[in-house]
Amino acid sequence: MRPVGVHTSVKNSLINSINEAVELQCTTFQIFLHSPRLWQIPEFSVEVIDEFKKLMQLYKLNPLVVHASYLINLISSNPKTIASSRYLLKREVLMADVLGADYYVIHLKDNKDMEKEEIFAKTREGFSKIGKLEKCKILIENTAKSKITALIPDLIETFKNVESEIIGGICIDTCHLFAAGYDIANENGLKKFIEELSKYGSFDLIKLIHLNDSKAPAGSGIDRHEHIGKGYIGIKGFENFLKIKEISHVPLILETPKKSFDDDLKNLSTVREILKRLES
Ligand SMILES: [Zn+2]
Ligand SMILES: [Zn+2]
Repeated sequence: MRPVGVHTSVKNSLINSINEAVELQCTTFQIFLHSPRLWQIPEFSVEVIDEFKKLMQLYKLNPLVVHASYLINLISSNPKTIASSRYLLKREVLMADVLGADYYVIHLKDNKDMEKEEIFAKTREGFSKIGKLEKCKILIENTAKSKITALIPDLIETFKNVESEIIGGICIDTCHLFAAGYDIANENGLKKFIEELSKYGSFDLIKLIHLNDSKAPAGSGIDRHEHIGKGYIGIKGFENFLKIKEISHVPLILETPKKSFDDDLKNLSTVREILKRLES
């Protein structure tokens, strides 16, 4: 079965994120390195990093995904924000690399007053400050609403324009895809998604899938995640999406609402059941 996991918490300790993933029988997982709404980023001690890597191997958790914090804005009109964003981006990506992360996923900011070319140039420059990485690759995630990352042709154009050796591909979030106008709950929407990807020969760019249902209808532009099967995409929609042959090996990370541990358990078991049905 393809790797399946959830976003877990580093709230009390970095190791906590692994414990959560193991308890949920995940085979992959995703973390923030710190509170994603704060600029402060703590250091981890060598001992903690060593233990983290040892446990990752022991439990065969793969891939490890680090999600960027939300504050990073490489195209802000405020030079101070650009400077802080470049600093935080570099710190986070280097830390992800030290932890042995496979991917660092980021949503790029849009700016309605800026032409695409300028956005690409500023974003490229921000990434160029990171330097060389051992293993970690950056993935650019699709968003619910944006002129650079919501529609598949725009997302691919953006990827190609910011391309560098540290950028490894894209991450597709099903809730964002749906909100951006790809009604994957029905055949036509699914076809549109597949056809656009085929047209640009871009299935191989998809390295990760964020599997989320949507609280808002298709094309709403609203990014609101829902439990798997409980939103507008629904079980049938996920069955069809997960059947897409070209991306049937791609790891799945759930970012569904979480009030308690049980929410993750339920969503994971729903996804595993769908995958089992598709395998048989
Ligand atoms: Zn996502
Ligand atoms: Zn989202």
